[in-house]
Amino acid sequence: MAERPYIVGNWKMNGTRAMLAQARAIDRAAQNMMKVEVALAPPFTLIHATHREVEQIGVGAQDCHCSTDGAHTGDVSATMVADAGAKFVILGHSERRQNHGEDDALVRAKAEAALAASLRVIMCCGETEDVRDAGNAIEFVASQLRASLPEKHERAGEMLTVAYEPVWAIGTGRTPTVDDIGVMHRAIRELLVERYGDADGASIRILYGGSVKADNARELLSADEVGGALVGGASLTADSFMGIVIAA
Ligand code: PGA
Repeated sequence: MAERPYIVGNWKMNGTRAMLAQARAIDRAAQNMMKVEVALAPPFTLIHATHREVEQIGVGAQDCHCSTDGAHTGDVSATMVADAGAKFVILGHSERRQNHGEDDALVRAKAEAALAASLRVIMCCGETEDVRDAGNAIEFVASQLRASLPEKHERAGEMLTVAYEPVWAIGTGRTPTVDDIGVMHRAIRELLVERYGDADGASIRILYGGSVKADNARELLSADEVGGALVGGASLTADSFMGIVIAA
C-alpha cells in the first residue's frame, strides 16, 4: 500500500444539492484522517457548491471535453471544471467508453486538455468479463493504457493516477482476487515505468475500483501496487465511504 492512500468517491449521475450534507460530513471526518488523501467527484452541477462547502478533501469532475471552448452544445471543458473548483478529472471510465462510445484516442485528447488546464487526471482502464475469461486481461488493459495515457508529461508522477476497474466488478458486488489485482497492478506499474521513466513511473498511484466496500477494502487494498481505491456506490453516504477511508 502506498504511503498515503488515495480514496476517491465517484458519485456518477447521483446527487442534488441535498447531497452536499454528505460531502460536508465526509470532509469533517477526513480532517481527522490526514494519513489518507480523500477526494470526491460529484456531478458537474455540484462541483462548485461542493468546492465551497469543503476544506480538506479534493474535488474533481467525472469527465471533460477535449476542446477548450466552442460550439459543443451540452459539453463542459477542462477549463470550466477547473474554474468551478475541480482539481482533477476522472477520464476513460468504462461507463463513458461504453455509453458514449469514447475510444482511446478521444480519452487521450481529453487527458491532454485536462493537463493543459492544470487538472490532475485519474485514467481508468479495465477489461470486460469476456476478455478476462479468454485470458487476455493484461494484454487488453496494457493496450488501453498505452493508447489512452498522454505520451509524456514533465510532472507525470504528480499529475497522473491510474484506476484499474474491471468492468465486470463495477456495481456488481463481485471483485477479483487479491492475487489477480496484484498481477494486474504490477503489469501496469511496468508499463508506467517504461513510459514515464523510473522516478515518475514509480510514483504514479494505481487505484483499484469495482465494488469496493468498507468490509472488503482492507483486503483489496492489501494487493501489490495498490495505492488506493476509486469507489462508486459506497461513496454516496458519508458512513459507507468513511468506512473505506478508515480501512485504508
Ligand atoms: P462501484 O463503482 O464502486 O459502484 O463498483 C466503481 C466505479 O465505477 O468507479
